[in-house]
Amino acid sequence: MRLVIATANRDKRLELMALLDGLGIDLLPMTRWKDLVSPAETGRTLEENATIKALSAARHTGLPAVADDTGLEVEALNGRPGVFAARFAGEGATYRDNRERLLREMLGIPEDRRGAAFRTVAALCFPDGECFTVEGKCIGRITGEERGDGGFGYDSIFLIPSLGVTFAEMTTDQKNAISHRSQALGKMRELITEHIVQGQTAT
Ligand code: IMP
Repeated sequence: MRLVIATANRDKRLELMALLDGLGIDLLPMTRWKDLVSPAETGRTLEENATIKALSAARHTGLPAVADDTGLEVEALNGRPGVFAARFAGEGATYRDNRERLLREMLGIPEDRRGAAFRTVAALCFPDGECFTVEGKCIGRITGEERGDGGFGYDSIFLIPSLGVTFAEMTTDQKNAISHRSQALGKMRELITEHIVQGQTAT
């Protein structure tokens, strides 16, 4: 049993592989296929983009594939950057560019209006075009400045108020216990068990 992890982002691939470990399935990073390139994320929703990525990998490899798409929805910005989180500071923006843009836009916004949520949609697609999606959400707050050196993306400015730390101040295991991606991937494990593991056992 084999499953392609359809992300070109190393940080996300490491989290996805850890979160899908132990299912008795070979997890194959898409980098194994040198001619498999990530498709343009042209969708207007996380669901569309996750499906575009997983379906492209499934069709190319002839194997089931999993992809995720994550958005950061900031209340004070009416849900921006949302699905455009990777390009918030423009095409080709780095993680740092995006964080700095967000901190700039949030300047002067009081504590009680700094609420935000990460939302992840994960898609499982098969080469015949069948797809399933699941969702996970993590609620937090945008800090006034960077805190912590771990993680990636917006981790150092995303605070979990009940714990008093940002994702970047947590270990990978601590982040994976509560994150948007881990919640989506927890549901994805059930889908994989139902559609791949049990399917194989039955045949
Ligand atoms: P993607 O579309 O799923 O690749 O995610 C869009 C952007 O959201 C990424 O480029 C990161 O900047 C950010 N992002 C995604 N997941 C996380 C996370 O777990 N922590 C912090 N930032 C994230």
